[in-house]
Amino acid sequence: MQKRFLRNTVALSLLVGLTLIAAWYVHNTSPPPSSPASVEAASPKQKPADSPKSKVTTEPSHSSSDNIAAQPTNESAPAKPAGTSPLPSTVGTSAAKPVEPGSLPSNTSVEVSRSTFNTYSNPGYPYLSKENGPFGQFHYRDTSGGRIEIDPEWVAANIVTIVLPGLNRAVEVHKEAADNFLAAFNYIQNGTAVVNGREVSLLSLIRSMDGTFVSRHVNWNPTRGLSNHSWGIAIDINAANHFCYVNPASEPDDPNLILWEKAFKPAGFSWGNSYNDSMHFELLD
Ligand SMILES: [Zn+2]
Repeated sequence: MQKRFLRNTVALSLLVGLTLIAAWYVHNTSPPPSSPASVEAASPKQKPADSPKSKVTTEPSHSSSDNIAAQPTNESAPAKPAGTSPLPSTVGTSAAKPVEPGSLPSNTSVEVSRSTFNTYSNPGYPYLSKENGPFGQFHYRDTSGGRIEIDPEWVAANIVTIVLPGLNRAVEVHKEAADNFLAAFNYIQNGTAVVNGREVSLLSLIRSMDGTFVSRHVNWNPTRGLSNHSWGIAIDINAANHFCYVNPASEPDDPNLILWEKAFKPAGFSWGNSYNDSMHFELLD
């Protein structure tokens, strides 16, 4: 009698134990619940407000001028903070293969394909830019002085650094615009023009080169749209005396007119002269 009771007790204990082990096993081998909140805590730290730029006050009327020297690379293209990983494998895969901006048919598909990604790692960029042709669109937030901060993931996937031939200056441009910039400055490096009856190199016509990729509103005015400099598809040349319209008929020797005809136009750029911004060349009309 006692033996049987003991046997039953042992069997019952064994059964309970096995059940507990099975329950533990099922629980611990299930996929872990996603915890975006904990990762969001490690989302990119916003940089402190930008330091005031001297160009802003000295060139208030120009819609595009930005002095690259006043803007270190890491300011306009914030580095990806170390704390953003680890990402779930699905997100990591889509991040490794960024969607080609030009292949996206509409805003909707951008939202659909990247919505998880954006809410996951970049909750701090509430505004969506317009779709700028093959150069795509991005999420951003306003900072100070008409500046914006672009989703660093977009910057990392689209903005590249190139060295302009002739000038030997490193600049940041959109990856889809890099060939055009290189072509323009190859013309400038190798070309000549006749100015006042004398042959000069095109390179000698450049007295200053200002911003290419600068994230901001037109004219540094937060109530206006975004400057095409925000996409890294524009450049300002000889800003000091080109806040104005250049009349090709009466000013045939104007350096920016010559650079437009001999370098930027054949390289696919349009010229801001039609809207009195003769320092400005960009890759959209
Ligand atoms: Zn400009």
